[in-house]
Amino acid sequence: MKTIIEPFRIKSIEPIRFTTREERVAKLEEAFYNPFLLKSDDVIIDLLTDSGTSAMSSNQWAGMMQGDESYAGSPSFFRFRDAVHGITGMEHIIPTHQGRAAEKILFSILGGKGKHFVSNTLFDTTRANIEFSGAEGHDFVCDEGKFPTIPAPFKGNFNTKALEEFIIKTGAENIPLCMVTVTNNSGGGQPVSMANIREVKRICVKHGVPMYIDACRFAENAYFIKLREEGYAHRPVKDIAREIFSYADGCTMSAKKDAFANIGGFLAMHDPKLAQECRNLLVITEGFPTYGGLAGRDLEAIAIGLEEVTEENYLQYRIRSIEYLTQKLVNEGVPVMQPGGGHAVYLDAAQFLPHIPPHQFPGQALTGALYIEGGVRGVEIGSLMFGKYDEAGNPVAAALELVRLAIPRRVYTQSHIDYVAEVIIDVFKRRNEIKGLKIIEESPLLRHFTAKLAPLS
Ligand SMILES: *Cc1c(COP(=O)(O)O)cnc(C)c1O
Repeated sequence: MKTIIEPFRIKSIEPIRFTTREERVAKLEEAFYNPFLLKSDDVIIDLLTDSGTSAMSSNQWAGMMQGDESYAGSPSFFRFRDAVHGITGMEHIIPTHQGRAAEKILFSILGGKGKHFVSNTLFDTTRANIEFSGAEGHDFVCDEGKFPTIPAPFKGNFNTKALEEFIIKTGAENIPLCMVTVTNNSGGGQPVSMANIREVKRICVKHGVPMYIDACRFAENAYFIKLREEGYAHRPVKDIAREIFSYADGCTMSAKKDAFANIGGFLAMHDPKLAQECRNLLVITEGFPTYGGLAGRDLEAIAIGLEEVTEENYLQYRIRSIEYLTQKLVNEGVPVMQPGGGHAVYLDAAQFLPHIPPHQFPGQALTGALYIEGGVRGVEIGSLMFGKYDEAGNPVAAALELVRLAIPRRVYTQSHIDYVAEVIIDVFKRRNEIKGLKIIEESPLLRHFTAKLAPLS
């Protein structure tokens, strides 16, 4: 088989600004060892997130010019609505400025004290919106999903037995919905199988709990189903995506992921009564129902992006570039989540830096080392992001200590990825020199975005 090439040519470029190691040491200190506080100009390869960082196609840019900025009833809204309906089949489609705005609206209505939301793994903004409403979120990822370096085809799956036990114990009347996150971002960008989605749906129907999809990476998940699940090899990805949505009562989506848009999102559902309540909130917080916090041009970019993302040459290249980096690292003995996820490579910081305990943030320490070594910016998904304090104020570690290197869509070429592998391997060779960190300032919600840290001597 020949090399799987980028299925595009480059028409417009953005220069990368290079920095020296000395500069990066100083920049990281100024940023309090938090990559979110770095200036992006000081980053060489930016793998902080795949969110809103996609390169848009010439078609999307052309669509932007056609965006109709009418306040109400813009044709751009109807193109957007038809594109979303074409994939999700949902009747009620509510544009929002990004995914968390959809979550905020949904959980403001369904959440509140005494309510419980269940998921394979809630993404951080989803959990924050649930908890902000006074409700609680619960993750039921399958056992394979808990061991990053042990390969399995569908590590994003639910533990359906634990899910059903929880529903019975808690009472379905206290569970306004079950959220299936595809792919499972916080669990390593790992896919959920169609069989698992069907089983979750069966359980939800049996107990009368609506099933929603956090659809940010629906196309990547659908492509994994095509590659790995029996009976799907010959089905078009778009059909597979439609089947996923056919089981859902609604969905939330960040168009900054699998719609190649730089901003945008939506909330979609079948239930007309709930949709009306959501639109009432939308008008207060986002905008009129035909634009919901977006410009007409953004609606066009999303509509076109949703078409492009199910193209199989694109998905083959996308999934292959993650696998390529994963394989290079595995060959050198670097502990990395296996198999590769859909949008990111996840380093297992607990195994990478076994001398740093969770309360000294091994993942965060590793992000700093990668930045200093090669200007590569990744993000910790571990005890800084998900750690808590118990009632006595002692730190409670997260289940996993990962560093996510998210690959922006259609942005970097194979040589960029080769460079990233070299940086990681160099850091791995000198891993014993890396020291832990302590928090010197933090906020109560989503602390990883703004926390200030300092190295331990
Ligand atoms: C990014 C993301 C969100 C939130 O979307 P934003 O557009 O960043 O607000 C929700 N769920 C998952 C799985 C995500 O990856």
